[in-house]
Parts: sequence; C-alpha cells; structure tokens
Amino acid sequence: MPPRPVRIVAISDTHDRHDGLALPPGDVLIHGGDFTSRGRVEEVVSFLRWFAGRPHPHKILIAGNHDWLFERDPALARELLSEHAPRVVYLEDSGASIQGLRFWGSPYQPEFFDWAFNLPRGPGLAQRWALIPSDTDVLITHGPPLGVLDLCADGRRVGCEALAAELSSRLRPRLHVFGHIHEAYGVAETHATTFANASVCTLRYIASNQPLLFTLDPASSAPATHEPCRGIPLR
Ligand code: 5GP
Ligand code: MN
Ligand code: MN
Repeated sequence: MPPRPVRIVAISDTHDRHDGLALPPGDVLIHGGDFTSRGRVEEVVSFLRWFAGRPHPHKILIAGNHDWLFERDPALARELLSEHAPRVVYLEDSGASIQGLRFWGSPYQPEFFDWAFNLPRGPGLAQRWALIPSDTDVLITHGPPLGVLDLCADGRRVGCEALAAELSSRLRPRLHVFGHIHEAYGVAETHATTFANASVCTLRYIASNQPLLFTLDPASSAPATHEPCRGIPLR
C-alpha cells in the first residue's frame, strides 16, 4: 500500500499563551519556537507539559530567540525535555525522519538587539543553513527567509537573506515552517515550497491566529497542501 498523506499541524510563537489553545488533529505537530517570553525554567516546564500532552503522535519543537534556557543551559533544557516531554523531538541544527518525511530544524535568526540564537547577518547564518540536507522535505526555522512572510509592522522585510539564497538554489523543502515576525502570519505557496508563518501570537502578543494545517504526500514531491481548519473554536 502506498504511504498515506501526512497531516502536519504548525504553530509558533505561543509565548506562554498555550493553555486552552485549540489544535486540529494531525500526525505531526510542529512548534517553530518562541514558546516562552523569557525562557525561564518554569515557563519551559509549563510549555513542555502542555506540548507533550497534545494527542498528535509525533511532535517536533525548535527554540526561538525568547527561549533563553535552550541557549544558556542546554544541559538543563535537555533534562527538562526528557523529564516532561520525552517523546517530543527537539531539533537544533539537526534532523529527524518521520513517516517517510525528512525534517530539519534550526533556532537561529538574524541579530535583533541581543536575544537567544541571534547571529549576525551573513556568513554566520550561512554556515548554519549549509548544514541543512538538500533532501529535506520539511524545514523548520524560527525566522523567515528574506522576502517571504517577513514584512514587519515598520514596513521593512527582515527575513534572512542567506536562508533565501539557499532556498533559491540548493534547498527545495516541500514545506517551510517558521514564525518570529508575528504580523506576517500566513501561508505563501510557490511551485516547489509551501511557506508557513505560523505565529499564533499577534504583534501585541494576543494568541488569536489559527494553527495552520497541511497535508504532505510522502509518495510525491509536490509542495504541501494548505488545508483551512474550519470549525476549530478559538479561546
Ligand atoms: P519576538 O520578540 O517575539 O522575536 O518578535 C516580535 C516582533 O518583533 C516581531 O513580530 C517583529 O515585529 C519584531 N522583530 C523581530 N525581529 C525583528 C527584526 O529582525 N527586525 C525588526 N525590525 N523587527 C523585528
Ligand atoms: Mn515571537
Ligand atoms: Mn522570535
């Protein structure tokens, strides 16, 4: 029997506002980082307990620039993961294969003030993106590439140019999930890649954006299909 399409639920930037968040069912639940506000232990534990308790059979997590514990004390962060969310797959410049699909995750984003997993624009970030395997089906980064769902409230596009360069040459993920620029929430589809800015929180940190739902067929090479998730009650 051919493998059946995989249903992927994408969320990001929940910033401690995870309690009561309604999610559609699916095979894989992805969180694109910024699950806390300040990356303190108690915030991390609260989030991990909630995330681990979701019914989705596979759950993938990356950190964002607010999730300080994962940069400052990676050993403690991993202890908390194994204690509170042992089945959650945490990706940090690393990958996983799930239901015939190859996932890769990275928390790094272009420098903006002084936050966790910040790197200067240019070669530092390019080195991280060079680690992404060319056969990645689902790419998860905290921030967007330049030019895609990266328009800030101040009118500037602030996505990563080095990531955009890789996406227009070497990489062809079928789904690219990110967040970080809350006000650019949404989906953008090209012939090769479906891009998802899955920020749940708005610019004012109100958790009012819907989770995004996709299907991806392991037997084809087509980009992910965006499925509207109607009928899911918001808080
Ligand atoms: P966060 O602090 O949750 O990472 O990002 C929250 C908001 O800060 C974003 O929605 C965006 O408005 C702004 N922001 C984040 N990174 C950048 C950046 O690199 N440049 C600019 N101009 N704004 C940013
Ligand atoms: Mn955020
Ligand atoms: Mn962020």
